[in-house]
Amino acid sequence: MRLADCSRWLAKAEARLFPAHCLVCRAPGIPGRDLCAGCLQALPRLLTACPRCAEPLTSTSPCGRCQQQPPAFERTWAALCYQPPVDQLVQAFKFHGRLVTGRLLGELLHDALRHAPIAEAVLPVPLHPARLRQRGFNQSVELARPLARHWGVPLLTDVAVRVRHTQPQSQLSRPLKARNVRAAFALQRPLAYRHVLLIDDVMTTGSTLRELAQVLKAGGAHTVDVAVVARAGGYEGTSFEPITTDLPQTSPQSG
Ligand SMILES: [Zn+2]
Ligand SMILES: [Zn+2]
Repeated sequence: MRLADCSRWLAKAEARLFPAHCLVCRAPGIPGRDLCAGCLQALPRLLTACPRCAEPLTSTSPCGRCQQQPPAFERTWAALCYQPPVDQLVQAFKFHGRLVTGRLLGELLHDALRHAPIAEAVLPVPLHPARLRQRGFNQSVELARPLARHWGVPLLTDVAVRVRHTQPQSQLSRPLKARNVRAAFALQRPLAYRHVLLIDDVMTTGSTLRELAQVLKAGGAHTVDVAVVARAGGYEGTSFEPITTDLPQTSPQSG
């Protein structure tokens, strides 16, 4: 049996032994996805948003913040709004380590990037080492890995590091040290890629991604794009009450 036949056979066997079930309502899932047709249809999609930062808006022109202080990234691809049931799915993955939920979120992120230009490398937002030890995994790495594999581009997990409050500046090389005294992130080495896609689970204010994108630009990237599973809104406030009123008490930690 050839390898391709073998993996096809295994996939069929897996589907028969462990049929997909909806992670939202427990009904049988649509083939190959842990979501039923009804729940897939009902997911809170981001319909109109700022093209730059995916801030939920009623138009598709850049939001006020992006006009006043344009971020270092060019654009943001957001799969969904950070509303039920997406918030519960993200938290089940992030705080309870439910990897099957992570796989589903990764697939939804992948769907959102259907029309995105393929970057030269994918860079998941790093956790600081203490948080990584505590959680045991970096949710952004898990979301980014299948995408990097599908695109056939490098997954950059050790180029950027979180430095604020965690890593002594003395561990960084001198030019990078000077550049990153105030920043939350630092590069371990110059970037060898011109176009990088940053991956995170949730974007809230966008400040983390703004900072990281800036560091990547300073480190040699020409184009930085961002992709997130969910976008919380709205920075500009009042018109998006449904998004904020449904938010759970725990706010995402990476935004
Ligand atoms: Zn369902
Ligand atoms: Zn914006």
